Amino acid sequence: MSNQIIAIDGPAAAGKSTVARALADELDALLLDTGALYRAVTLLALRSGTHLSDGPALADLASASVLQVTPPSIPDGRFYDVSLNGEDITWAIRDPAVDAAVSPVSAHPEVRDALLALQRRIASQGRVVIVGRDTGTVVVPEATVKVFLVASAEERACRRHRELASRGVDTRLGDVLADLERRDRIDQDRDVAPLQAAEDAIIVETDQRSVGDVVAAIKVMAERAWHPMAARHARGR
Ligand code: C5P
Repeated sequence: MSNQIIAIDGPAAAGKSTVARALADELDALLLDTGALYRAVTLLALRSGTHLSDGPALADLASASVLQVTPPSIPDGRFYDVSLNGEDITWAIRDPAVDAAVSPVSAHPEVRDALLALQRRIASQGRVVIVGRDTGTVVVPEATVKVFLVASAEERACRRHRELASRGVDTRLGDVLADLERRDRIDQDRDVAPLQAAEDAIIVETDQRSVGDVVAAIKVMAERAWHPMAARHARGR
């Protein structure tokens, strides 16, 4: 049988992580949110004072660190644990300072190269839901299910604003919207592995759709891809 990899890409705050967490739970799959890795390198850069325009130095930081994304160990709303050289940085990488710096850091080809092998190694571990910007196009183009989640910028900003408020982070909706749009622009316009849907990805619009509804739709795609005979049988053909 071919692989059981589901690649979910899309712009910032399109609901990728929430959908992917629920999907991974339902399918008993591993979840890899690749954005967490780029955020971890960004946190390293900010802490060490490395210049955000110095791609080789940023890549060295990534290569010299032990980055891990593992199932959640604490029931505090996290979808997974992120650790950096043994330190729990799960919430530190969600800081607005990281939001502001992560896209310029991620645009460096050296940084992307430094993180690619790690992503592919994790994705090769069996049934995996992998989330990001270039997973369907670059990281795992062989994925049997590819989804590109989209939602209007306003809806995405409202979601992110609510999520920040629930963690006690006080921000203005207009600032959140501006930050998302700025990040999307940098992610789309970069030369290497830009944010874009793979040619064979299914575009899924999430405005006014519940998480459960989107998860169910992707599950159907996975069943069809992984068990085509059974799916045909269930449809009565
Ligand atoms: O998904 P999240 O918002 O956590 O991603 C943070 C940033 O990491 C994105 O805005 C993008 O710059 C970068 N990223 C990337 N490629 C990925 C995942 C994330 O460039 N596969």
